[in-house]
Amino acid sequence: MSTVIFRKGLDLKDAVAATLAKDYHSAIVDDLIGHGFRRVRGRLTIHLAREFGFCYGVDRAVDYAYQTRKRFPDRTVYLTGEIIHNPHVNDNLRAAGIRFLSDAGEPREPLGAQAVIILPAFGVTVHALAAYDRLGCTLVDTTCGSVLNVWKNVKRYAQDGYTALIHGKVRHEETLATASQVLKYPGGRYLVVLNRDQASRVCSYIERGGDRDAFLAEFRDMASEGFDPDRDLRHIGLANQTTMLMSESLNIGEMFRQAMCARFGEAALGDHFRAFDTICTATQDRQDAVETLLDRETLDLMIVVGGYNSSNTRNLAKICAARLQTYHVADADALRSASEIRHRLIDAPSGGAGQEVAGSGWLPAAGTVRIGLTAGASTPNNIIGQVVQRLERFAAVADGA
Ligand code: SF4
Repeated sequence: MSTVIFRKGLDLKDAVAATLAKDYHSAIVDDLIGHGFRRVRGRLTIHLAREFGFCYGVDRAVDYAYQTRKRFPDRTVYLTGEIIHNPHVNDNLRAAGIRFLSDAGEPREPLGAQAVIILPAFGVTVHALAAYDRLGCTLVDTTCGSVLNVWKNVKRYAQDGYTALIHGKVRHEETLATASQVLKYPGGRYLVVLNRDQASRVCSYIERGGDRDAFLAEFRDMASEGFDPDRDLRHIGLANQTTMLMSESLNIGEMFRQAMCARFGEAALGDHFRAFDTICTATQDRQDAVETLLDRETLDLMIVVGGYNSSNTRNLAKICAARLQTYHVADADALRSASEIRHRLIDAPSGGAGQEVAGSGWLPAAGTVRIGLTAGASTPNNIIGQVVQRLERFAAVADGA
């Protein structure tokens, strides 16, 4: 039985538009945008970054998931895991009867040709896709075009004998999927680096060699099977997980360029080193917009809204935290009272959802207060609107209004 794959929607965009609006629209966010991304209520002024929230890839993936439910009301519809990193969106899909293969108790084995499987915006590994294909079921592929663009680059590296050096989080679904692309080619190899520290150790090995066993002990779980640093760092091509911090990715790219230059010489650099910026435009726009907001406005604090396992949200929070007091909150419920807030530690280690902590005294108790606001690419407007409502309520309470 052959697999049916939908890649361009299911012709039900109009049919699900009202449901999507009901689930994710916010009149408050519309009001903010309509008033120059600014809203004043009493002593509180909220400044919203000009690019925030749902990106084109997330918008499309969520739309396709709703279309899938509508198109196949009598069939079991599965998601391979979270469609995007926002718990509210995922819970809405569960409530609509879509089952998550990553949930406890769900099947890991063949699902039958009647199953409909939705692939998330980050894509799935080559291995997983082949397994779903063998089932002969129906697939709805929501992999974002910007992720496909990264795959195109790493596949080209592999074809040409270059190791794909990926700046990303090794357990993030997108990076797993991207890394797997190079394995389609004989001798295809990859190495993932998380940050500047790891990049500098790889650069040092490129330039001067070193303790091979120590290198492998550190990077074994971040590299393709059989990775040999003496052989596989002679030709490298750079790529990024699309949601990394742009400034860090550029910096790491430059570190590798210099290391390859030192090792092989400027004249031979083109034979050993390739680079292609694969940060997506939506990520870049959100990072640029929040920098602009921080440059232009005098703010008392920043609120960044989004799932704790959302890479791009965490990077927005990191940018803000370098400039002023910043709280990364999952949703409005994190704002417990005018004095108490629950938020994710900005510098919590990568992987998983990260540690949530309780903070106090987050909202100035009196006088004017100016709050900057942004949200990650997987945060819907209704969640942002609820945060604004809560801010306004607590600002009024703290002021005794
Ligand atoms: S963050 Fe970028 S790559 Fe990821 S879904 Fe959105 S647009 Fe696509």
